[in-house]
Amino acid sequence: MSARLLDGARVAASIREQLRPRAEVFAARAGRPPGLGIVLVGTHAASEIYVRNKLKAASDVGCRAELFRLPERATLADVLDTVRRLNIDEAFDGILVQDPLPSAMGSGASQAVFDVIDPAKDVDGFTPINAGLLSQGRSVLAPCTPSGVIALLQREGIAMSGSHAVVIGRSDIVGKPMAMLLLHQHATVTICHSRTRDLPALTRQADILVAAVGRTAFVRPEHVKPGATVVDVGINRVTDSGEVAALFPEGSPRLADFARRGSVVVGDVHPAVAEVAGALTPVPGGVGPLTIALLLQNTVTAAEARAGWSASR
Ligand code: NAD
Repeated sequence: MSARLLDGARVAASIREQLRPRAEVFAARAGRPPGLGIVLVGTHAASEIYVRNKLKAASDVGCRAELFRLPERATLADVLDTVRRLNIDEAFDGILVQDPLPSAMGSGASQAVFDVIDPAKDVDGFTPINAGLLSQGRSVLAPCTPSGVIALLQREGIAMSGSHAVVIGRSDIVGKPMAMLLLHQHATVTICHSRTRDLPALTRQADILVAAVGRTAFVRPEHVKPGATVVDVGINRVTDSGEVAALFPEGSPRLADFARRGSVVVGDVHPAVAEVAGALTPVPGGVGPLTIALLLQNTVTAAEARAGWSASR
C-alpha cells in the first residue's frame, strides 16, 4: 500500500487566497493593512529562513510585516521591552517572537515572553490567556501548527469525530494544543510522551497519528495501524550522508536533493511509513506551509477582532 499524500502546500495556498480579500477589506476600513511585528534575536540560521518566509508570505496576502532585530547579546529585558512597545503600537495587530531565543537567556525566557505579549496580539496563541481559552474551546487565536493540521485534515476529508487520535509529544506549542484541537473536533485523544510505556501499542490504535517529537524518522511502520492517517509535524535537518542513505531508497529524489545541498529536511516519521499509512503528510510540503498560512490567518483575525469587526470569517 502507498499512502495518499496530504498536500499541505496546496491547502496553505487556498487559505492564503481566502485571506487576501479579508486583508483588503480591513485595509480599506482601517486605513492601514493588518500589521505583524516579528522579533528576531541573534543569528540562528534556520530562524533567518523562517522569518524571511513569514515576511514574504505576509506581504503576499496584503499584511504589513516588520522585522525587529536584536543582537545575540541582547538580554531578556531587551526582548520584553520590544514586546511591550509592540503591545502599545496601534500599527501592529500581531506579535511573534521567533523561537529559539539565545540559550544564554535561560530556560524560562520563552515563557517570560509569552507572559508579556498582549493576548489580543498573540498570533502564535502561546500566552496563558489564549492557552486557557483554547482548553475551554473558545479560542480566537490558537497555535498555528496544530491549527494548520486541523485545517489540513478538514480540507482533505479526514474524519476526526469519533476517531482515535494519538499525539506523540506534549509540548505547549505543538503537542498539547494539538490534542485540545482534536478533542474539540470530537476525537478520542491519547497524548504520548517520552515516558510513555509501550508506545507502539498505543500508536497502533490510532486512526489519526500525529508525530511532534523532534526526532528524525522516529515513527516507524510498526507504530502505525494499516490505513491510518499520519501527520508528520517534525522538521529535522539531516547532514550525515550515512543517515540519509539509510532513510531513502536508491533512486529517491531526496538523495539527489542531499547530493546538491549537503542536507535534507526529514520529519519525525520514517519514509517507510508511506507503505502502511492510508494518508500521510510529506516533509517538506506538509504541515510546514500551513503553519505560516495560519500565522497570517491569525494576524488578519487579530486585526479584525481588535477593530471590533468579526469580518468575513
Ligand atoms: P519539543 O522538544 O518541545 O517536544 C517534543 C516532545 O516529544 C516532548 O513532549 C517529548 O515528551 C516527546 N518525546 C521525546 N522523545 C520521545 C520518545 N522517545 N517517545 C515519545 N515521545 C517523546 O518539540 P516541539 O516544539 O513540540 O516540536 C516537535 C517537532 O515539531 C520538532 O521537530 C519541531 O521542529 C517541529 N515543529 C514543526 C513546526 C512546523 O511548522 N511544521 C512547528 C513547530 C515545531
